[in-house]
Amino acid sequence: MQTRIIDGNALAREARAALRIEVEALSAAGRRPGLAVVLAGDDPASRVYVRNKARACEETGVLSRQIDLPADVAEAVLLEQVERLNADPEIHGILVQLPLPRAVSSERVVKAIAPEKDVDGFHPCNMGLLTEGRPRFVPCTPKAVMAILDREGVALEGKRAVVVGRSNIVGKPVALLLLQRGATVTVCHSKTVDLEEATRQADVLVVAVGRPNLVTGRAVKSGAVVVDVGINRLPDGRLVGDVDASSVTGVAARLTPVPGGVGPMTITMLIANTVLAARSARD
Ligand code: NAD
Repeated sequence: MQTRIIDGNALAREARAALRIEVEALSAAGRRPGLAVVLAGDDPASRVYVRNKARACEETGVLSRQIDLPADVAEAVLLEQVERLNADPEIHGILVQLPLPRAVSSERVVKAIAPEKDVDGFHPCNMGLLTEGRPRFVPCTPKAVMAILDREGVALEGKRAVVVGRSNIVGKPVALLLLQRGATVTVCHSKTVDLEEATRQADVLVVAVGRPNLVTGRAVKSGAVVVDVGINRLPDGRLVGDVDASSVTGVAARLTPVPGGVGPMTITMLIANTVLAARSARD
């Protein structure tokens, strides 16, 4: 079996070019999409993510605003900032970079974001809509997984899909989205007894755990489409996913690499959600 490596960077470039055209049209109509990113503290990984988000805004013509707050920011100050952005007509999307400093409740902060500006899709209202099967803002990584499957023309109806990982930001929403598309979905997690037995059934396998080499070629059905969401930094500095790409190559029909698979599409989906928010904003 020849395994095709899916080029997430190329898919992201195409998607961003299309978004750029939409942003131009909205801007010409006086509604330039605007994204505000709130960053509290100086976590180096968060700084990199925020910088990449600003770059994606620049590339697509979205107005981007960054609000930097100190690591010891009081929750009340953060909430006030969110309130100000909720009322700002130039800002259509608000993203509070997680994790927040320990003294601040992420739950209260996420709930304070106006649901119609919640481009991360973590507000309970948006999670509820997704669960009901009528999503508004889909969290960016799950949206990226679905966009990759769609752009690759992967049929989902009637297929067996297995999702490994059940977090609120990746595994659970991916499972709900696959379910909506008519796949028969199994969700595996840390308490699953025989993981390989379950993953071997998958026509479409999505892995979002955070453990290098969790899924090897033995655990994959011949001809499956494998989406590797995991990002792991090895002691030697290399970045790898959760899937052992070398043993899965030759078994799967298609595989997303790490890096260069889901990651670039995730940030692109943040722009897509911001455009969606601007399009649906009331004047
Ligand atoms: P998380 O820690 O919140 O959840 C991990 C999940 O894996 C849990 O549901 C847990 O039950 C399950 N799990 C743990 N050990 C397991 C095992 N041995 N077998 C089966 N399941 C097991 O993580 P998350 O936020 O969902 O992120 C998962 C991975 O995806 C991480 O590596 C993260 O860095 C990566 N990630 C990538 C992107 C991207 O854009 N590519 C975005 C978000 C997260």
